[in-house]
This record gives sequence, C-alpha cells and structure tokens, in this order.
Amino acid sequence: MRLILVVTALLLALIPIPQSTSADIVFKNGNVYTVDSKAERAQAIAVTKDRIVFVGSNADAQKFVGSKTRVVDLKGATVLPGFTDAHQHLSGVGFREMTLNLEDATSLQDFLAKVKARVDQTKPGAWVTGRGWIETHWKPPVFPTRSDLDSVAPNNPVILTRADGHGSVANSAALNLGGIDKNTPNPFGGEISKDKQSGEPNGMLLDTAQGLVRRRIPPTSPEEAERAVVLGVKRNIELGWTQVQDAGGSYNDVELFKKLYTEGKIKLRIYKAVHGPGPSATRLLNEGAIIGAFDNRFTFRTIKVVSDGALGSRGAALLGPYSDKEDTSGFLTVKAEDLRPMLVDALRKGIQVETHAIGDRANRFILDEYEAAFKAVPTAERKVADPRWRVEHAQIVNPEDIPRFAKLGVIPSMQPSHAIGDLHFAPRRVGIPRLKGSYAWVSLIKSGVVIAGGSDAPVERGEPMIEFYAAVARKDQKGFSGEGWHPEEAVSRADALKMFTLWPAYAAFEEKLRGSIEVGKLADLTILSADIMMIPAPEILKTRCVMTVINGEIVYEGS
Ligand SMILES: [Zn+2]
Repeated sequence: MRLILVVTALLLALIPIPQSTSADIVFKNGNVYTVDSKAERAQAIAVTKDRIVFVGSNADAQKFVGSKTRVVDLKGATVLPGFTDAHQHLSGVGFREMTLNLEDATSLQDFLAKVKARVDQTKPGAWVTGRGWIETHWKPPVFPTRSDLDSVAPNNPVILTRADGHGSVANSAALNLGGIDKNTPNPFGGEISKDKQSGEPNGMLLDTAQGLVRRRIPPTSPEEAERAVVLGVKRNIELGWTQVQDAGGSYNDVELFKKLYTEGKIKLRIYKAVHGPGPSATRLLNEGAIIGAFDNRFTFRTIKVVSDGALGSRGAALLGPYSDKEDTSGFLTVKAEDLRPMLVDALRKGIQVETHAIGDRANRFILDEYEAAFKAVPTAERKVADPRWRVEHAQIVNPEDIPRFAKLGVIPSMQPSHAIGDLHFAPRRVGIPRLKGSYAWVSLIKSGVVIAGGSDAPVERGEPMIEFYAAVARKDQKGFSGEGWHPEEAVSRADALKMFTLWPAYAAFEEKLRGSIEVGKLADLTILSADIMMIPAPEILKTRCVMTVINGEIVYEGS
C-alpha cells in the first residue's frame, strides 16, 4: 500500500501542472496550408511567445482565447509557413533600395526618365549610382550608352549596374574620372566596350572593367552599410520572407548583424555564410559556428565557395564549348588545391559548405570535390555526420550527374527566376541538347533530393511570388517559354511550397524548428491575399503579402 502511494506520488510529480491554455495570439478564419503531411489544412493557429501551440479548426482554437489574447480574423486569407529565401545577398538588396533601383525599368525611355529624376535631386558633381536594369525586354534589347546617359546627366558622374552585376553603363563624366578613353586597354578579366567606328568607349564596362570607375566612388560608410541592412530587412519582411540565407560576405556582415539584433533594429532571421577559401572561412573554421543566436534568429555556420562565373557573360564553366562562341567553355574560379584542405577541415569541424556552380563542368567539379572530401573524412571523424553541403544555382547539370546529388546527400539550392530570365538566352548559349539537365527541378526532386528555393536578389528582384510563379509555370512573366525549355521540369504547387518553406529549413538544419506549421515549431507565417495553391498561375504574380509573422510577432501588416 505504501509502495503504491509512493509510486502514485512519483507519477504525479512527473505530470506537469496544467498551464493556462490562453495563447498570446489566435489567428482564425485562415486558409491554412501547413506543409505538415499529418494534417495538411487548417483554419486557425494559436501562438504563445515564439511558438505555435495549436493548429486546427476555428472551433477548437476558441479554448486558446483568454482575456489577454489578441484574436486576428484573417477573413479567409491564405496562411503558409514563413517563406525562406535560400539564396540572397541581403546588403545588396538594401543598397539597391538606397541607390537608384532600376529593376522595373520597362524601356530605355523609362530607364532614362528614372535616371533624370534622380539626377535632378542630386547636387552637380555628386555621384549617381544604381543597379537592377535588364535590357532584354526593351525594344530593341540593346545596352544603354554613355550618350544616352549624358543627355540626362551632363554634370554628374553616373554608373548604373546591370541586374546580374557583370556589366555597368557609365556616362562621360564617370568615364573621365575613371581615366577611360579610346586608348585604355581592357583590364584582365574585363572589357571596355568601344564604338566600332570611332573607337571611343560607348559606356558599357564588363566584369573587372567596372572597377576602373567604381574605385572612384567614395567608399561606403558604416552608417550606409547599416542602413542598407535595415532597408533590405524591411523590404524582405514586406514581401513575406521570414528568413534569408545570406550567400557570402565577410565577418564585417556578421558583426553588423549582431549589432543590429542587439539593438533590436532587425527581426528577420538570417542564415549566414562567408566567402572561402580565405581569411573569413579560416576564422569561421577556427572560432566555430554560431547557432540559434538572438532567439533563433541568427545562425552562422557556412562557407560560400564560388566555382565559376555566370552564363550571361559566358563565365560559367561548361564541359564543352559555348554553342554561341565556340572558342570558349568558360572557366573555373577556384583551384582544387586551395579548396581541398578547407573542405576536409570543414567536414571535421561541422562547418557547412555551399558552392556557386552554374555550368555543367563546375557542377561536376564540385560534386567530385565534395565526394573526395566525404571519402577522406569518414562519418565517425565528422562533427556533423550528415553535413548537408549545398550547390548554389546547379543550373546546367549533365544528366549523368543529376543522381549524384541524392547519392552524396548534397542539396541543390536553386532560383526559379533565373530559369525564366535565362530562357531568353540560355538556348543560344548552351544549345538545345544541353537544356536537358538545365534548371532540372523535377528531375532532381525525383532523384531523391530536396531543393532549397531562393531568389539570388539583387541579381533577381527577390520577390517570393515571382519565384513561386517561376517554379510552377516555368514561363516568363508574360507567359512565354521557348523551344526545348522542358515544361515537364515545372514543379507541382505542393513542391514549390516546400522549396520556399520546409526544404530550405532542412538545408539550414532547421527542419525540426521551422518550415511547417506544426505545434512546437517557431511561429513564422507568410499570409497572402490569394490562394496561390489554387489560382491560375498568372494571378500568382498579382498576389500580395498581407501579413508577416516572425517568432510569434506580427512584423508586417499590409493595408
Ligand atoms: Zn548569389
């Protein structure tokens, strides 16, 4: 008898005292897609502090409503797990906001009108810089020139970078400051475009040639760098991103992010990488990762490697020559002997590696290098057994290499908007046969991997609705797709949703913490004006973010 009493007392001690069930916020009347296979749809979500405490029906949510609970009537809005941009350059997005943002210039006239408006607000002699223009939709689709810019900016130096960062147009004042005239030779790795008749520079500077002018621009101040991050975060939150995975940079970013979190100036989650091989990567390997700092908002555990260039400028490393320029097959931008010791060290120390690889040669190269490192460091000698290394872009992959991602446990991190922008020139660059294996989302998913979906902003616009549309439509924003563009590689809506929620969480070792709407997970929600799982694809582009929730806090509410 006494034993029974003791046992009963012990058992009672193990049962937690029932807590008050009232939640901080109850969202009701939502059209909820949970990305939880056990219960895919719901109407209501209750949140206490940073966690989801209930997912289910409006009626059952009622018991979480107490006197202090904020009840948010969503009036049928669509609720998704908080969206993640698995590949973005956060400061670059902010600087695009601070300088002249030309991403929506629809024609040369429109572009020049935007430049003129900015010049009119700028003191004579002061620099005007900007980024984001893409001429491929202009009529005709040709680069702007120095004389175009001179007509609206006679007294200010102006340099405006194309969206992909691989070219800029400068006016005469900027070219003069850069010391560029008809006699200036091309620098290594770059080109000063010149008029065929006069031999004078026409204003376009490609790759490293941009540096001749850029180094004359006064350097960024710490205040400007801080403002860029704050503005980038603001834009991301308003678009519905709850985490960005910042693809590269240095310890300067790490220190700045820590400062801004400490001061309460940013609330977006950031999953950070720094470039390597080099001093930042070495420091990360020595000092170790930062995981889940600032209430799970900040994690820093990744080295970003760049293994080739871009397809637009024919810098992507291909296995064979470019179809529209037979004398080149692009180039690798990292040496195996520099990479190998770092990969082995990273594996031992539990540091993730993500590598930019666009061309099929770069993709094969990095899969080979990853495979060699995995063989060199057996699981027992690794700090993290399943290292979840990633390939950023994985754009042109030889079909033979597609199954290797799953076999090696390597995650492709891909940006659907690249495919719908590149479809205007990629068929010329690589030829129709090589398009099999290019932007091959469905083939990769079928092979057994998850794809971490991202935008690569500011290379692309960085809008979740453009990325989601691109993934499911695989057509440009006007509905066009060309010959050989493999429509069967367009993903299902269910998979597209995972590409921006659960799968990038997995690619960040956070699938138990976030990425779906489940009890116990962090309360990150992206709430939209329309049901992107049901509406016709073109309407996805008109869909707006109406509310963003990060860590249980409503950080953005649209009008
Ligand atoms: Zn990038």
